[in-house]
Amino acid sequence: MRSPLHLKLGELELFVLNDGEIWLDGGSTFGVVPRVIWSKLTQPDEQNRIRLSMNPLLVRIAGQWVLVETGIDRKPGFKHRELYRLSEENPLLAQLALLGVRPEDIAWVINTHLHFDHAGLNTRWQGGRLLPTFPKARYVVQQQELEDAIHPHERSRASYLPENIEPVLEAGLFEVVEGETELLPGLRLLPVPGHTLGMQAVELESEGRRLAFTADLIPTLMQTPLLYIMAFDLYPMTTLETRKKMYARWLEGDYLLCFTHEPGHPLGRLIQTERGYRAEPVPGLDSRPSS
Ligand SMILES: [Zn+2]
Repeated sequence: MRSPLHLKLGELELFVLNDGEIWLDGGSTFGVVPRVIWSKLTQPDEQNRIRLSMNPLLVRIAGQWVLVETGIDRKPGFKHRELYRLSEENPLLAQLALLGVRPEDIAWVINTHLHFDHAGLNTRWQGGRLLPTFPKARYVVQQQELEDAIHPHERSRASYLPENIEPVLEAGLFEVVEGETELLPGLRLLPVPGHTLGMQAVELESEGRRLAFTADLIPTLMQTPLLYIMAFDLYPMTTLETRKKMYARWLEGDYLLCFTHEPGHPLGRLIQTERGYRAEPVPGLDSRPSS
C-alpha cells in the first residue's frame, strides 16, 4: 500500500492518504469506451476488474485538521468484500495514526458524496454501537446529496448504505451546505453534479497555489478525457457539462488535481491539446513518503 504522500501548498500541509484498493468492473468504469481501447491503459484481472484505490485527502489548514472523504466501508456487515477484492485491514485509520492524528482531532470531514467507497469510515463499531468515527467533527455535505442518500431511488440504493449515514444524522454531526461554499479561508466547496446530483469537489488555495480534489468527476488520471465517463454516473450528460466547465476553470487557475481513485500517483495536472483533454502525473512535487 502507498504511504501517505506529503505536500505543501503555500502555507497548507496536505497528505494524500491511501485506503487500499478496490477492483471495479473495467467496462462499468470506462462507460462507452470499448475494451480494446481501455485495456491498453490498465490490465484487467480474469474477471474483467481493474485496480483502483481510495485516496482520501488530509489537510492542515488554519490550525485545524480537515479530512476529505473517509474511504471505503470495511464494517463487518459490508457484503461486497469479495466482489471488490477488499483487504481486511482498515488502512485509513492506520495512516492517520502513523501521522499522529487521532479521530477526535479531526475538525471537519468533507463528504464529497455519500457512496460507500467515499464515506465508508464515516462510522465504525465502538463498544457494541455503530457511532461516528470522528466524534468532534462536523461532516460537511451538500443538501441535495444528503436528501438523495436518505431517500435513494432504485438505481442508487446499493451505493448509499444507511450504516454510513444514520449514526452521523442521529449524532447531529452533519453540516449541510447548499451550492458553492467557502468553508474556511482557502477551502472552497463546489457542486460538481453528474455522478450524483449532489456531489461536491474541494478547492484549496494558499499563496497563489491551488489544488482541486475532483471526487468522482475525474476518478483517475486515465479517465480525464471528456467522454471517459463511468457507467455508474447517474447523469452522464450532466457529468459532461460539469467537466467542460470545471476543466476550463482548473486549467485557467493552474490547479493541481488530486484523483480520488487513482491507483498510481494521485496528483496530476490538466493538459489541453487539439485532441482534447488529458492529465499528466505530477511526481515528487514537494513530496516525501513518511516513514
Ligand atoms: Zn467512487
